Amino acid sequence: MIQVQFLDWSFLVDKSLTEKIYSSVDKGGADKCNCSMCKNYIARKHNLLELPLIEFFRDAGVDIDKEYEVYHMGKDANGLHLYGTWFDFAGKILEGPNCKIQTTDEKFTIEHYDLKPSLSVAFLPANLPLDSFFDKVENVVQVDFIFTIPWTIGDEEPE
Ligand SMILES: [Zn+2]
Repeated sequence: MIQVQFLDWSFLVDKSLTEKIYSSVDKGGADKCNCSMCKNYIARKHNLLELPLIEFFRDAGVDIDKEYEVYHMGKDANGLHLYGTWFDFAGKILEGPNCKIQTTDEKFTIEHYDLKPSLSVAFLPANLPLDSFFDKVENVVQVDFIFTIPWTIGDEEPE
């Protein structure tokens, strides 16, 4: 276990287990899916997920090309496309702003923090059973993103 810092958060990370799981995964969710929404994400990914995220993912052993899934939520008022995606790693949140706001015993909302105008992030302990490459791991942190990107590929633009 190592301690990894990202902005105001600090994590305990099982880096070798995280790396092992990512290396056992053939492709990320967007690469596996062939829809135009995922293709548009792939085209913009490296403009979106920049430093210091790249450094943090490297420190934690997360493969930035292997998100679990990408989902498209439609167009915003500026004509940009609103999406979400998430990555996971083996470990725990030690400290930092709380992103998982419990509303009732069973329900919660996720509070995202802006990294830049087009990208916000939330860190939360993942609940089992989960939609994750880490579904067999006991302590998992979910790195949840909400973002907007323009439509830059030739495929017909969805609403
Ligand atoms: Zn897709």
